[in-house]
Amino acid sequence: MAENLVTQVDQNGQTTPIIPVDEDEDSQQSTSCFCGFLFSRCRRKRHNAPEAPRPMVTWQPPVHRDPGHNLLPEPGSPHTNRKCLVLDLDETLVHSSFKPVDNADFVIPIEIDGIQHRVYVLKRPHVDEFLRVVGGLFEVVLFTASLSKYADPVADLLDPGSAIAHRLFREHCVMSHGVFIKDLSRLGRNVDETIIVDNAPASYAYHPNNAVAIQTWIDDPTDTALRDLIPFFEEVAEADDIYSLLRTLTF
Ligand SMILES: [Mg+2]
Repeated sequence: MAENLVTQVDQNGQTTPIIPVDEDEDSQQSTSCFCGFLFSRCRRKRHNAPEAPRPMVTWQPPVHRDPGHNLLPEPGSPHTNRKCLVLDLDETLVHSSFKPVDNADFVIPIEIDGIQHRVYVLKRPHVDEFLRVVGGLFEVVLFTASLSKYADPVADLLDPGSAIAHRLFREHCVMSHGVFIKDLSRLGRNVDETIIVDNAPASYAYHPNNAVAIQTWIDDPTDTALRDLIPFFEEVAEADDIYSLLRTLTF
């Protein structure tokens, strides 16, 4: 069974594993099933489909509290005295699917189980301007619950100006009750000077007061959420107290 490549989590905390299907299944499926952003070549796992046995998931003590295992290296120039801005990828900066779309900004070839697939990536409106501005103000960290084999090439194309200083992937998340959580205390940065922008509240369940709860984006070409946040982050970059500003945000 192919691995879940992209982790799409909506604002209700519902996780949608996105995996390709083989040609036989493709011919049997219609595009009408499930959500609109799923497609003929991909599907959610169906409840009645035979599945491999799932490993038992047992809650583990929070190893993420170990200060000796920071996820990020020491900040280098020019990030030494900057606040840390953590950005989610899917449905925050881009939307990706295996469904061919005419207006894809990128098409990423990815091999899964020995088969070449294509991932079609749409950029959220104003993401270029947003990255350019925040990249000059913060130490920017891309933190995604998706796999690096997908997210790395997307980030390469999304960020040609290297606004993003570090990239973290699924293996850097904490898995708790079936949800990938991005634990800001593991980064090795001052949490009081760290902000996360994510469309899925579950992602920042450990640090809700540090979060900017951006709306989930799929394909709305009129979306202005990233552009609208630029003045806010220009202010946050200079602020003594990020929490007083975060409390002013309304969505
Ligand atoms: Mg997301």
